[in-house]
Amino acid sequence: MTATLESRKTQAAGLTIRTQAFIDGKFVDAVNGNTFDCISPIDGRLLGKVADGSQLDIDKAVLAARSSFEAGHWSNTTPVHRKKVLQRFAELVTTHTDELALLESLDMGKPVDDALGYDVPATARCLAWTGEAIDKVYGEVAATGPNELGMITREPLGVVGAIVPWNFPLVMATWKLAPALAMGNSVVLKPSEKSPLTVLRLAELAMEAGIPAGVFNVVPGFGKTAGEPLALHMDVDGLVFTGSTAVGKRLLQCAGLSNMKRAYMECGGKSPNIVFADAPDLDKAAQAAASAIFYNQGEVCTAASRLLVEESIREDFVARVVDAGRKLQPQHPFTPGAAMGAMVDAGHVERVMGFIAKGQAEGARLALGGKQAQVVEGGCYIEPTIFDGVQHGHTISREEIFGPVLSVIGFTDEAQALKFANDSDYGLAAAVWTRDIARAHRVTRKLRAGSVWVNYWDGGDMTAPFGGYKQSGNGRDKSLHAFDKYTEIKATWINLKG
Ligand code: NAD
Repeated sequence: MTATLESRKTQAAGLTIRTQAFIDGKFVDAVNGNTFDCISPIDGRLLGKVADGSQLDIDKAVLAARSSFEAGHWSNTTPVHRKKVLQRFAELVTTHTDELALLESLDMGKPVDDALGYDVPATARCLAWTGEAIDKVYGEVAATGPNELGMITREPLGVVGAIVPWNFPLVMATWKLAPALAMGNSVVLKPSEKSPLTVLRLAELAMEAGIPAGVFNVVPGFGKTAGEPLALHMDVDGLVFTGSTAVGKRLLQCAGLSNMKRAYMECGGKSPNIVFADAPDLDKAAQAAASAIFYNQGEVCTAASRLLVEESIREDFVARVVDAGRKLQPQHPFTPGAAMGAMVDAGHVERVMGFIAKGQAEGARLALGGKQAQVVEGGCYIEPTIFDGVQHGHTISREEIFGPVLSVIGFTDEAQALKFANDSDYGLAAAVWTRDIARAHRVTRKLRAGSVWVNYWDGGDMTAPFGGYKQSGNGRDKSLHAFDKYTEIKATWINLKG
């Protein structure tokens, strides 16, 4: 049966929502009994009172993780066993696609169609791909003479603390969880206080797939009161994070202030999308420029928030992007085909509207949108917004807005395009549109970003690493490179001389 807005509302009303922490294989209340309200940004409705984790819950979860690690029920199993369990886990995620997609949408406001088309399948693929890879990762033998043997092996870190954001709650959690589990670690995960629901369900599915109790724990709560105790914990061996650069910097300090735990941060972005006058298809480039900033309400670390356009085509090109953007108005996230849904919460709406006001105050020209949208009473919606005539250096050209706000900046030649593109604290992603293959090579080599695309935006797969240069981060998720974050490398020497 084809889904409708009404049928999805009925389905969502029947969902069971898990609100307790998941520690040592069981759903439990916070030790001090505290909860926080989990509000849907679709209409401001209370979805549940979620366990508000604190130091006490983190201590409990870390103890469970440590005990499970030492017991070896997971850490000492064969790679083939872990592979089978992760693949079963992936299948369970796929079986529960509709439920997880609705829950994700209810909790953080993204269109259900986006969750069905990307978030849930990407979660399953990450688990399946990582599972498939585990028994294909070999150690090394050092180049020695006949009298000794040097073996280089990877060992799990032990207990991994993972702290993740709210924009892709399932996917961001799984990019950490899958390689951590694959390598035999035990995990304590703290989801964002703005979107804790799907990961709590994920923990239950993990158990059902065969992950032993204590190996995967979820403690919901706030950054200061649950995140920092995890980051500072003396019995956590590795800390992996996705979120803002400011918090990433703080977590690097926490690692240094405590036990020098391995710490990898995936942080913010202000990605440039560079369109030269010889782009192969200006309409296609304009549509891509619009969806690259308005997808997921602009709440994407790689959002193409800076559109750098060669001056000779700027006016014409901006008109095309405005046309494409106008078609992407926010709707109730359950509406089939909705291009944009709700912003994550009222506080974030206020923050994004503050940037829009700043753009106007600094003299940029509002070419589209700029207002809150009235979609559902009590909900959080913002129109797709485009500023033309932005000067490199304006606040909206420098700071990560993390909302549906595009800054268009003109450039006169390749050198200026590169200067503007690279003059940023961030270096997560970038794209270049040109027919000239030599220019494509030249520019991509000079762009200081972890992912660079030519004549499209946002290509990617589990087969390639993802992460940033500069203050966008210091590690890589996805692909075999992700395993580096979850393992120590050991050199074992054996004397063969007798
Ligand atoms: P955030 O930094 O505010 O929060 C991220 C997580 O950190 C949350 O779970 C939060 O509770 C926790 N946290 C906050 N303060 C903390 C503290 N002092 N100690 C420990 N934990 C703390 O980020 P957000 O608003 O949830 O997410 C948006 C940010 O995430 C954007 O900057 C975006 O670019 C970034 N992001 C990056 C990637 C990537 O792969 N590079 C992917 C998605 C999102």
